[in-house]
Amino acid sequence: MKRAPSAPPLVFHNGTAILPDKLLPDAVVVCDGGRIRHLGRMRKLPRDATLVDAKGGYITPGFVDIHVHGGAGADFMDGTAEAVRTACRAHARHGTTSIFPTTTTGSPAQLAAMLKACLEARRDGTAADGARIAGVHFYGPYFAPDKVGCHSQAGRRDPDAREYRRHFATGIIRIATCAAELPGAEAFYREARRRGCLVTCGHSNATWAEMARAFRAGMRHVDHFWCAMSSVASLRQRYGTPMQASMEQFVLAHEAMSTEVIADGCHLSPELLEFAYRQLGPRRLCLVTDANRALDMPPGRYRFGCAADGEWIESDGRVGFVPGGGALASSVVGLDTMVRNLKAMTSATLPEVIRMASLTPAERAGVAREAGSLAPGKRADVLVLNRRLQVKRVFIGGEPYAE
Ligand SMILES: [Zn+2]
Ligand SMILES: [Zn+2]
Repeated sequence: MKRAPSAPPLVFHNGTAILPDKLLPDAVVVCDGGRIRHLGRMRKLPRDATLVDAKGGYITPGFVDIHVHGGAGADFMDGTAEAVRTACRAHARHGTTSIFPTTTTGSPAQLAAMLKACLEARRDGTAADGARIAGVHFYGPYFAPDKVGCHSQAGRRDPDAREYRRHFATGIIRIATCAAELPGAEAFYREARRRGCLVTCGHSNATWAEMARAFRAGMRHVDHFWCAMSSVASLRQRYGTPMQASMEQFVLAHEAMSTEVIADGCHLSPELLEFAYRQLGPRRLCLVTDANRALDMPPGRYRFGCAADGEWIESDGRVGFVPGGGALASSVVGLDTMVRNLKAMTSATLPEVIRMASLTPAERAGVAREAGSLAPGKRADVLVLNRRLQVKRVFIGGEPYAE
């Protein structure tokens, strides 16, 4: 990924740079040695530079996706480095430059194979391999039995310390999910926190009291807000009356909690996206794709999770769903689509929308020193978008990403 020391600087110009809190018109972004070096208004361009003309569009940081299962026919759970690279290349085309491959439910051996494949792809990765693997999101298999969603029920289990210690020992897990009500959840959260992970509760029917215990053990995030999580109504079914507060109220009530939305226009209505944005703000809300292998593939039937025995889902080209039942089964679009949707469907400003797709997930996942914004010293992960927010150019560590 490193540019040779003698390579000329890379200069983005003739566009509006999108910073976390403002737009910078007529910007120049100077990169050198794979890093962003300078950011400012248009001035005389260095004569020996490689120029990238934004053509009146936007210069933005590369996107950071903390919840994503696959793309272009490959699922990270397929367990080969080639499948990992295929999915990373697909997401790079949509502007994602830092990616957290996300596990589904599955056997301990399938999870171990996924982690090994990600380690291998990260070790050998170049800009040609697409989005850089920033860490793995250990997501399945510790889900609540009644909130497994489109994941394989057979691959679900309660946290098993012997198993997860082995997985954590790979060192590649940076985000760790577990349903808060499961036996052993708190020990899992403590171990994940000790390892420096973003600790999250998902696919859960937890009560406020269970969330409060999880919070004390280090849990600070909830996966895909409103999807596969508890609500006042679901807890009434579990416990009757008096009605109890759920994961939703817990997240909204705690400043230290963050969450994420799937803004594909199919999972959540515009008013729910607006509600999440207004209640949580751009520093606590992340955009994620939660994309499965059907991203950039024709409509049809696909395995969710491992190619060998993942659950069958269907894609109509807009969203994934469970055949027959109609329940949604993760998205089939990239972060660029989520960015355009959030801009179109909510009152969030452009810098806020881009922040939710870059700096906020980078901060929450602990990679903001390297990625997430156009700031001197950070890696030169830079996009050029046109005025309609379509991805035109992608640079990963200062190298152009090309198919
Ligand atoms: Zn999920
Ligand atoms: Zn997911």
